[in-house]
Amino acid sequence: MGIEERYRQAARQVAQAAREAGRDPREVRLVAVSKTVGLAGVGAALAAGAQDFGENRPDSIVEKQGEFPQARWHFIGNIQSRRIPDIVRASTLVHSLCHERHALKMDEAARRLGKVQDVLLEVNVSGEQSKDGVAPQDAQALMDALEPCRNLRVRGFMTMAPQGDRETARACFDALARLHADVRRGLPAERAAVFDELSMGMSEDWREAVAAGATIVRIGRAIFDDAFEA
Ligand SMILES: *Cc1c(COP(=O)(O)O)cnc(C)c1O
Repeated sequence: MGIEERYRQAARQVAQAAREAGRDPREVRLVAVSKTVGLAGVGAALAAGAQDFGENRPDSIVEKQGEFPQARWHFIGNIQSRRIPDIVRASTLVHSLCHERHALKMDEAARRLGKVQDVLLEVNVSGEQSKDGVAPQDAQALMDALEPCRNLRVRGFMTMAPQGDRETARACFDALARLHADVRRGLPAERAAVFDELSMGMSEDWREAVAAGATIVRIGRAIFDDAFEA
């Protein structure tokens, strides 16, 4: 199977999983994580109907967004302070914000560009040392710290499940969904209305994420790697 076919298959499967979970398939956005392929790979997925792409390096998102500005570009990688202006210029949604100092810089970069930047806070639900993200118990405080940032709009949370079995992944996604619901309940109505995104699930665990309430799944290998078997 080529990229086009694999993209179409992933899109069908995600929609089907949403229906099986009793959800409207339009509530779940598929982000094609194109970090391992070049422009031709992105072009193939676009031809198959992909509208959202994820990248984890500033140079790559800048290059690919420049070539395909009609798509929505998601930054899912490590944020480095000095690359924040580039990330803001190219990104529709930044999934990986977890430090107040980066948020303040991003707010300023967005202000200069005359943009309101949609962001997700990355939460380290599993508590693994190797993972980035704010601890669940500190997520509310980070939200509060970002309150004065007029040019940032916090749209929800993102997480990565630990590698391993599906049950562990499901528990991680359920925990993020609960945290999201708790934090959302405490927001004023107009902010709660746009705090509506949960980015969770990758090639090996997106089914669990959709069942747990993901509104965005980030799928790379299942689309772009012919060797990947679910
Ligand atoms: C690479 C990556 C993905 C996609 O992972 P696959 O296993 O290839 O589907 C999703 N999210 C983040 C943050 C990533 O870095």
